[in-house]
Amino acid sequence: MTAPATPVRRVDALVVGAGLSGLYMLHRFRGLGLDTVVLEAGSDIGGTWFWNRYPGARCDVESMEYSYSFSPELEQDWDWTEKYPTQPEILRYIHHVADRFGLHDGVRLETRVASAHYRDAEGRWTVTTEAGDRYDTEQLVMATGCLSTSKLPEIPGVERFAGRTFHTAHWPHEEVDFTGRRVAVIGTGSSGIQAIPLIAEQAADLTVFQRTANFSMPANNAPLSEQAQAERKRGYREHREAARTSGFGIPVPEATRSALEVDPTERHAQYESVWGRNLVGMLTSYTDSIVDPAANETAAEFVREKIRGIVDDPETAETLCPRDHPFGTKRPCLDSGYYATFNRETVHLVDLKKTPLTEITEHGVRTSEAEYAVDDIVFATGFDAMTGSLAAIDIRGRAGRPLADKWADGPVTHLGLQVAGFPNLYMITGPGSPSVLSNMMVSIEQHVDFVADTVAHAHTRGDTVVESTEEAEQGWTDHVREVGDYTLYPQADSWYMGSNVPGKPRVFMAYIGGVGAYRAHCEQLAADGYPGFAFSAR
Ligand code: NAP
Repeated sequence: MTAPATPVRRVDALVVGAGLSGLYMLHRFRGLGLDTVVLEAGSDIGGTWFWNRYPGARCDVESMEYSYSFSPELEQDWDWTEKYPTQPEILRYIHHVADRFGLHDGVRLETRVASAHYRDAEGRWTVTTEAGDRYDTEQLVMATGCLSTSKLPEIPGVERFAGRTFHTAHWPHEEVDFTGRRVAVIGTGSSGIQAIPLIAEQAADLTVFQRTANFSMPANNAPLSEQAQAERKRGYREHREAARTSGFGIPVPEATRSALEVDPTERHAQYESVWGRNLVGMLTSYTDSIVDPAANETAAEFVREKIRGIVDDPETAETLCPRDHPFGTKRPCLDSGYYATFNRETVHLVDLKKTPLTEITEHGVRTSEAEYAVDDIVFATGFDAMTGSLAAIDIRGRAGRPLADKWADGPVTHLGLQVAGFPNLYMITGPGSPSVLSNMMVSIEQHVDFVADTVAHAHTRGDTVVESTEEAEQGWTDHVREVGDYTLYPQADSWYMGSNVPGKPRVFMAYIGGVGAYRAHCEQLAADGYPGFAFSAR
């Protein structure tokens, strides 16, 4: 006897991922009266902030900016405790939002999506989960996050290691104690740089394996005073508006001069004034910081001076000084005591550019030069960014064409939101949008609002299918590349370029035109009746 086929649940909209994007998408779709379900692989809501719970995990955008702006009441009622919020505090906030707007019952947890296939004849999608459950939906929104599919180093032996292993993006829920242990951390991106100082406080011995030295600035985190919070809340509307029209989604004064036209003393004073203030101040001090190598080098050298000023051992300091990419072209980091950690006698730095990793052994980590015996290995080795989570799902559009096939040479999108040939499929902060080059909250809200407004517009016209045209997609993809090529970003081997994943096409995947310009463009499209989008009824 054959097992009965799983009944198909018919919905208006299906959202993949219950992080900050997916939850807001659910809220907006429900506001349009759409029967919506969110499928989430994790055992709880929160997305990035559910998974990344390593020691020191915190957002490097200020809490009062890294929060939803769609509800003035929510904004006023919620109190943040620190300038930069910890992962647990953000997760509490996300739960508060889900409780307040009644979102929990729209989310199905522990449900990983395996495939999404478009049915041309009906203009609808069939979405199948790994457990075999099937959904039939008109709208399909991938709110799968830009940094959700973690990666390990491409070296043999991980399974052979006899001690404990951790990945920063899959940290255990219970506390991990490193007291008395010999620990290896592989990776010095934002996650490693946040975790290393705290692991060093506990470990008997810590060896940090660095492939690329990164630029990091002090977070200068501090409790948020009641007064500062009340002041921001009073001016929230103006502040949010300034964030929405800014370059990176964080309001900062606009640069007016080249770094090369001011004298070195004045330039130094400028860098000093923004140092440790926020993530973007060093990049936005001058008009040419991110486009002119000589201008950029003035910022890079300022950071190197800071590193040399903190790290006692000159050789270690030089190894920590980034030299192989322009400042800002790999995501800069904010830290709490990262460089000073290398002044501890128990902390050692291994330069993988000189002695590459070769394997993980039963006892530890081997480089081309030595084997380092350790009890624990922490992989802070990052993600298959931007496209990894989409590639993990078998997505097929018109005529059964796989998205993987369409994106074989790198992602092509219209606005980072849609792909021609994949009707009613939307991505929140997809490749080709400002996403990871911005305060994600600003981009998430803009994208979700644009998707909801577009769907509402289609329904008002009596249409059910919205699809970007090939011409619009090509035009936008070319524009993203041209703007990227104008900057220094493509020079770095970064996850923005896909360089951290062997075999991934080398394409600059984010839009650096700025969130303000991007928003204005989207608003103009909507005002003009959505040129570049084809509307139809089924
Ligand atoms: P990441 O920036 O990609 O850093 C991964 C690190 O692992 C890099 O140092 C990388 O070296 C190294 N690595 C990767 N594969 C390796 C290998 N085979 N051998 C040796 N080293 C290897 O990842 P992440 O630190 O998890 O951060 C990713 C992004 O998440 C950040 O850029 C940021 O956007 C976001 N994030 C934000 C926060 C925050 O808000 N505070 C915190 C964490 C993460 P290479 O540089 O040479 O590839």
